Order: sequence, then C-alpha cells, then structure tokens
Amino acid sequence: MRAKLLVFSLFISFASIAQEYEYTYTFFTNSAMSGDYFFSKTKSSGGSAIKSVNGKIPVSVTKFHTPGNALELTYKNAAEGKWQATIFRQEKRGMDHFKKAEFLSFWIYRLYPLELPVFQLMRKDSSLTKKFYINITEYNQWKQVTIPLASIKNPGISEPGDIIAIVFSQMSKNECRENSIYIDDIELLPAKKAAKVTEVPVIQSLKGYAKHVDITWNKITDKNVHLIEINRSENGSEYHPVGIQQNFINRFTDYTAETGKKYYYMISFLNSGYKLTNLSLPDSVSTKPMTDDELLTMVQEASFRYYWEGCELNSGMAKENIPGRHNMMATGASGFGIMALIVGTERGFITREESVARFVTIVNFLEKAETFHGVYSHFIDGPTGKAEPFFGKRDNGADLVETSFLMQGLLAARQYFSGDNANEKLIRDKITSIWEKAEWDWFRQYPDSKFLYWHWSPDQGWVINHRLIGWNETMVTYLLAIASPAHPVPASMYYSGWANQDSTGIKYRSNWGQTTDGSRYTNGNTYFGIKLDVGVSNGGPLFFTHYSYMAFDPHFITDKYTNYFTNNQNIAKINYRYCVQNPKNFKGYGENAWGLTASDGPFDYSADEPVPWQDCGKIAPTGAISSFPYTPEESMKALKNYYYNYGKFLWGEYGFKDAFDLTNNWCSEIYMGLNQAPMVVMIENYRTGLIWKLFMQNPEIQNGLKKLNGESKNK
Ligand code: CA
Repeated sequence: MRAKLLVFSLFISFASIAQEYEYTYTFFTNSAMSGDYFFSKTKSSGGSAIKSVNGKIPVSVTKFHTPGNALELTYKNAAEGKWQATIFRQEKRGMDHFKKAEFLSFWIYRLYPLELPVFQLMRKDSSLTKKFYINITEYNQWKQVTIPLASIKNPGISEPGDIIAIVFSQMSKNECRENSIYIDDIELLPAKKAAKVTEVPVIQSLKGYAKHVDITWNKITDKNVHLIEINRSENGSEYHPVGIQQNFINRFTDYTAETGKKYYYMISFLNSGYKLTNLSLPDSVSTKPMTDDELLTMVQEASFRYYWEGCELNSGMAKENIPGRHNMMATGASGFGIMALIVGTERGFITREESVARFVTIVNFLEKAETFHGVYSHFIDGPTGKAEPFFGKRDNGADLVETSFLMQGLLAARQYFSGDNANEKLIRDKITSIWEKAEWDWFRQYPDSKFLYWHWSPDQGWVINHRLIGWNETMVTYLLAIASPAHPVPASMYYSGWANQDSTGIKYRSNWGQTTDGSRYTNGNTYFGIKLDVGVSNGGPLFFTHYSYMAFDPHFITDKYTNYFTNNQNIAKINYRYCVQNPKNFKGYGENAWGLTASDGPFDYSADEPVPWQDCGKIAPTGAISSFPYTPEESMKALKNYYYNYGKFLWGEYGFKDAFDLTNNWCSEIYMGLNQAPMVVMIENYRTGLIWKLFMQNPEIQNGLKKLNGESKNK
C-alpha cells in the first residue's frame, strides 16, 4: 500500500511540474509610476469632467487597497455631458497562461454617497459590452465589486484574453457635484469563495543597503496565498503597508529612499478575497551609506539573483523574463547567466559547493536536451527538454547565435571548475562533449557558402534563411565556429561572411534603415567627434558591444580594420554623447542617463540606437552599466543616478528593471534574461577581468585566434 501511494504521489508531482504557471488575469494592481497611470485614458465632454493627468487616470498613493497605490476617479456629471475612464490591460511577454476565471472583481472606495459610474468591458476589436451597475451603498471604506463572467452574455468574450480593458463612465443624466472614488485590484478571479491561507508568514532575513531594504521569507507552499503584504514601521509600533509581492517570489525590495535609518518589518499573506493572515513576528534593520565598490557589488548580486533564485527549475538556467513563462529556458540568456553564476561564486554570493551542484544540474540538462546538429533552440521547455517555438512555428529548430552565447558561458565555466574532484571533472567533461557536438559547419547550408546561417528547422530546413553578417551581436558565432575543435569552419569565413563586403553584405546592412554608413562593414566616419572604424549607422544598439564580448575579450580581437575593444569603446562613447545631446528632447536623457539598446518599452520591445529614427525615449539600465569596461566614469554616473534618484521605481528584487521612459512616465515591470547578466559580467570584467581571463585560457580559443590572425595577414 505504501509503495502504491509513493508511485501515485510521484506521478502527481511530475504532472504539476510540467504545467506552466498560471497567472491571475489582471487589469490593475499598482502603477509602476506615481502621477498618472500609463495604461489608461480619460475623456469628457458636454460639461462633465474627469480628473486627468496627461490625458490619463491619476494615481493615488495615499488611498489604496493594495499598497502602494490605486487609481483615482474624480468626476463631475453634467446633464448633457459624459466622461469615460479606460484602464487597459498591460500585456507582458510570456505571461500567457492564466487561471481559469469565473468572475471579474475590483475594489472601490468612495468619499461621498454620490452617484457612482457604470462600467463596461472592452473586447479586442475595441467594442464595449453592456453596462454594469455598481451596487455599493457604503462610503469611506473599501468594498469589493464582482460580476460572474457567465453573466456577460455578449459575443466576442469566451476567455479572459478577449477582454482588453475596463471602462468606467457617467451613469445617468443626473448632475452631481464633484465625487471621488478610488479603484484598485481589478482582476479576473477563479472562484467566488476565496480559500483560507493556513501557512504562517515568517521573515527569513532583512538586509539594509544605501536606500533600500531586502526582505526575504520562506518559499511559499500554500497554494491559497494570492499575494504577500509587506508592512514597515519607523518606530516599531505603528506599521504601514508599503508593498505587495507575487506568490512565486520570496523576496521584496523596499526602496525607502533614506540612508542611515532603522526600519521594522512584518509581513502577512492574503488570499484571493484579500483576507490577511496574522502578521509575522517583527524584525528590524538599518540602511547605511555605501562606497562605490559596495554599490557595484550590490548591483552585481541583485542581478545575479535573476539566474540563481529566479531560474527555470528543471534546467537551473535562465528564463526569458521575470515575470514571464516559468517553465521556459532561454538559451542565450542562460549562457550569460552561467557567467553571472561564476561571478556570484567568486564573489561569495553562493558557496562553491552550491555553485557546483547547480552546474551539475545545468550540464546534465544540456546533455539530454533536444539539439539539432548539436545546436540548441532559442527556447527550451524545462520539464521535457524539447525545443519551444516561442517566436513562431518556423523557429522550431536550431538557433546558432543563441547557442554561441550559451557556449561562451560554458567555455568560461569549463576553465573555472578546475577542481580535482568528481563533480568538477563531470562539469568539464560534459561541457567538452557539448562543445564538440555542435556542428558549426552544418550551418553553412551548402559546402562552399560564404556565410553561416542563424536557424535550421528539422521539418522546414532553411526556411528562415537568415545569413549572419556583421556588424551586430553575432561576431562570437563566427569566432567560435572557427575555433571549434570538432566541426570548424574555415577562418576565411570571418571575412567572406561576418565582414562580407560584396553586394549581399551591403544590401543586408543598408536594409537596417535610413543610412548607408557602415554598409561595407567598415565605417570610417566621425560621429560626435569620435571616429568609428567599424559599425553600421553610427554603431547600433549597445548590446552589439556586450553579447559577443562578455567572455571573448575584445582586447585580443584585432582584424585588418580595427581592434574591437577600442571600436566598442568608441561605440559606447558615441551612444553616450548622443544621449547627452538628446536631439529629440526626451525627459531624463543626459550624462547621468544614457545607453540606447534593446529592451522592453512602453509600446513594445525594441532595439534602440543613437539616431533619431531609432530612439523612442526609453533608457535601459543595462546599456550604460554593461559598458563599464569601455566607459567606467560615464557608466558609474548612470548607475548612481538610476539607484539613488530613480530607485523608487527602477530598483527591485533582481536589480534594475529592464527600462524606463520618463517622457511617457513609464517603467518596465519585468527583468530580462538577456539584460541582467551583462551587468554582472561586464562590471566584473571591469573590476577584475575574471570572465575574460577564464574564457581566453581555453586552448581552442587561442587556436581560433591564431587562425583568424593568419587570415587577416593574408588579406
Ligand atoms: Ca494597489
């Protein structure tokens, strides 16, 4: 009987691991920024009025249901007028699995017993459902409003994703004097009856930094915990709720904005009905002044946590973004994350034993994961190890560029784990086997091809047909293909493919947009007083100077056109000077906020460049901070500005959020796997050169460089 039970429970646990994490379908919990809520819109006419900031709904930081804010609707109804306030749902990359929803819920607080608005739901085609009335008589208290989704007998809504916004508007032609209501926690909830939380909240640790405190608690096992609420006190007796956290993260970053001050904390759990458990026992800590050196370590450790604590559980490697898919491992980001884990080990964020155990998980996973001619796909499903075509059906096979980023990390790790013991030997041996299985030469597509190709699909072959042509982030792909001990390509491909100068290369580069500068690979123009040897346009997004050079030390890469440390440094300086000049007058740009690169944005993910047609007003912290080896002073100024002045919205559990846009009063609510690790690794390369040194010790890399140098002399 016991044995049977055991088998049964194993089966259950496997099934629950394989299921992708389901998010609550949410319209509003908190605004990332104070002032106005970016994902909203207001309008009024005919004498009616709705309070608006920049055409958007104001954010209330004094009245809220969940800390730290809510939306304020202050309106005046006129007999012939109308007003409307729309709250759009913010779509986040990879947050595409949802709890089964049974009813719409939001919380409302009104100041006066005056007429309430009605609300409607917006479908994907912008049409609105029938009007719903709010039957609340109380005022000066928070009340929950719910409607069963089954009661929405409207065509076009069959699942949560069919609702893109909630719209409040004037109910009747009755005039009313100014009324204020507050709205918070608009979401679709799974069951009307919220289940009770039995788990007891316990604070595990508190740590004070210059202007923030990190609070951790035990990993939550109770499925009924909807959110975690964090309460802070300055005197140990009066506590105020300061923030909430999702149930899958057991840490909260409280940016208090004051240095050298003592704070007390207690936490509690909420169920989906927002009923609080008892508070945890209190604990206290002080914020403290920090040196520049400590500040660098703080940024490294926080970003490192993305890969350590925030990893995909089966592979031990990086997710695409957090929050996002929980079961999906991202190959390139994992290569960067591997380097961040090495930095974290060397700096003592984790012990060597912990690190070795993680790397054993990583190499065991990679050994069994699906490959195509030894090359991994862009995304891999953690529970099964199979390719995950997250970017579309054609991208269901090999991704050579992502694999080269992974290999960069693995080859640095092979040198780092040099210990004379079984586990470290296993790590080295499995990395060698992974490295030697990758068929770089297959990705020429045909035997005498000048180019490497980015993708290959097992059922659609070369359907994407994307040639790798520089200048961009793919230099390391050619360098590794040339250096490969088992499946190398000729060193001549560096010049025939990557630095191609015939019509194919010229056309490819000219298609990037609005300039022919650098279309022959070499550039030669001067921008902002800086001569650029190599680079399309005036250098492109800054990640071009990071991804290939996190481990491959650019000091040692000199072709017949330039040295790539110097060239990268010039690209970083051009980017800096463009942002200081700020031709489009974006808010916040300057010597303390610069670095255009690929990141999340208020409207979409985009790769920004220091030219007006590729500059949309957002700054990603990784731009300046990952440029530390090239521009240490300018990078440090940006880092301090981001933390000391913008930390309230920009600093979080995994370091800096992905990007911000002050012109639009927007800040990203995600961290990206491709953007956090470059900060850890490039700060370390600036401080000690650790990852560069490790990687360059690989004999195959030295051999590949020799081949490239020979080729450059022949040219
Ligand atoms: Ca709130």
